Amino acid sequence: MARPDDRPLRRLPQLTPHKATLERCVFCPKLCRSACPVSNAEPRETLTPWGKMSMAYFVANESVPLAPSFAEPAWACTGCFGCREHCDHDNDVTGTLFAARSALVDAGEAPSAARRVLERFAESSSALGKIAADPRVASSVDANARVAVLVGCEHARRGTEGGVDTVRAVARLTGGKVALVDVCCGAPLLYAGDHARFVQEGERLAKALAGRERVVVGDAGCAAALRVHHPAAGVTMPAPVEHFSELAAREVGRLGRVDGALGDGPVRWHDPCQLGRGLGVYEAPRQVLSRALGRAPDEFERRREDGRCSGAGGLLPLTMPDVARGIGEQRVADHDRSGGGTIVTACASSMRSFQKSGAKVVDLATVVMRALDAADASAPPRAAPTERDET
Ligand code: SF4
Ligand code: SF4
Repeated sequence: MARPDDRPLRRLPQLTPHKATLERCVFCPKLCRSACPVSNAEPRETLTPWGKMSMAYFVANESVPLAPSFAEPAWACTGCFGCREHCDHDNDVTGTLFAARSALVDAGEAPSAARRVLERFAESSSALGKIAADPRVASSVDANARVAVLVGCEHARRGTEGGVDTVRAVARLTGGKVALVDVCCGAPLLYAGDHARFVQEGERLAKALAGRERVVVGDAGCAAALRVHHPAAGVTMPAPVEHFSELAAREVGRLGRVDGALGDGPVRWHDPCQLGRGLGVYEAPRQVLSRALGRAPDEFERRREDGRCSGAGGLLPLTMPDVARGIGEQRVADHDRSGGGTIVTACASSMRSFQKSGAKVVDLATVVMRALDAADASAPPRAAPTERDET
């Protein structure tokens, strides 16, 4: 019988470009196992990064049958990049498992929750239109504005304060009105397992952004889709893409102090996986919070590159709801152990996960709006216009 690494990936040939990446995990002593939020919450060997990559590999090279028990581990991943930080090879488990999902969907083996996301994508992504109709953003929006804002479907669907404040704060920070992007970043298609439609959605988005000076993205997951996952799939955006925290950090001098506006007690920053490990943005939100609070924000014990996932990414709340809930509860317990208070994040899915576990959470954009209002309130009153001013 041929050695496993001599066997072609005949059943899932789409994974052939990822064969070396899969084999790095398959033949590895699992150095990253302690980093995975999924196998930490549900301690099963199959759910470690090694287990998920091995299952995809052995299905692909026909060592095991094409069956739910071997296919579904590919969806047991939040896409948090945590394993990569602990891997001597920087192995791309996240991208490879997303590719495996797509190959498995093509082969007809996917969890029902993922299939439902694919069936309902057009309907769920139409939520972006809701934010444009929200009267709270009406005075900040102009369809012809040079700066575009992509709020994110999760914010738009729920009509969150964070989504509304993202639009209003970007308009204030850029000194004009903003155009709202009503095309989804396509991340749900990537996570559910339709790579071809993910690319199509990226191309549609690129077309919608043509001619803009830049696009500011509110949700960390959408920002990673535009800056990491679409370029990896060969789609580049026609305008620079920045996360909201990067814009706010550049304009940090315009922020006032939000004394007491977030309540008493600690104000703790949670590094969203897609913003931190995904985009390498760690300093910008801390600069913004330091200015708004007048002191450095409180921190989780595990933070920055070692920050812990909320459990809300990669469709895990749909494919493994109990495990996702367990991970969110662990993070809120970490927060409580460190002194509780308010969590600030820039990921709409993480916010929802923490709120479900009983934590008080605000989006970074809400802190920035309050800090802009505080700066306005403390500005010296303008002198009354003189006759000469009026001429
Ligand atoms: S990600 Fe790296 S450390 Fe983890 S199993 Fe794969 S090769 Fe090993
Ligand atoms: S990306 Fe995160 S959830 Fe996925 S296998 Fe790695 S550590 Fe686990």
